[in-house]
Amino acid sequence: MNKMSFILFEFITLLSLIIVPFHIKQSERVNSLMQYSIVIDPGHGGKDNGCNYGDVVEDEINLNIGKYLFEELINNNFIVYLTRDDDYDLAYNNSENRKNDDLKNRVSIINGFNADILISLHVNYYQSEEVKGPMVYYRYNDEKSKELATCIQDNLNELSGLKKKVHSDDFYLFRKTLCLACLVECGFISNKEERNKLTSDIYQKMMSKQIANGIIDYLSN
Ligand SMILES: [Zn+2]
Repeated sequence: MNKMSFILFEFITLLSLIIVPFHIKQSERVNSLMQYSIVIDPGHGGKDNGCNYGDVVEDEINLNIGKYLFEELINNNFIVYLTRDDDYDLAYNNSENRKNDDLKNRVSIINGFNADILISLHVNYYQSEEVKGPMVYYRYNDEKSKELATCIQDNLNELSGLKKKVHSDDFYLFRKTLCLACLVECGFISNKEERNKLTSDIYQKMMSKQIANGIIDYLSN
């Protein structure tokens, strides 16, 4: 081996020492996330618009953020499910109590996926137009759901610049589902500034990225 090819050999050896461990670390992370499955539940749909401000309806925003979150999580190698992927509710065709049947069917669909994590997506409304900011709810008395909610809330606080804390609740969806569960209220459509953001593609993508980052933070610790 002449001097030049020796230097080249040394360089390649050194490079492989740097690259290989990085590569292993990346693939370990990818493999560990691949084990987890996540159900995204865009709230309401169809005749049930959820809350609204004029023409701005909650179910449409929930669905858009849900689809972006689906893409974001797929790109991070999770197994991902959606409870709905278009503008319909989950009640039977001739249901006499659509709201009730929608929730019951939502629960059966979610439990049927047998996933690790449920993220239900909603948008808030309040009489006072001042109130704003994304808020994350966790299942009452469920410490792991609280940890997951805190990771998501921290990432959403980064986006909003606010310092919101997580809240617990015993929503029907929390009581009847089996997996780790959080409900994200993505913001208030009663606040003008937030309504404008929530209806923009760019902000919906940013919101979904922060929610995904929260999930990754929780699972990486
Ligand atoms: Zn809602």
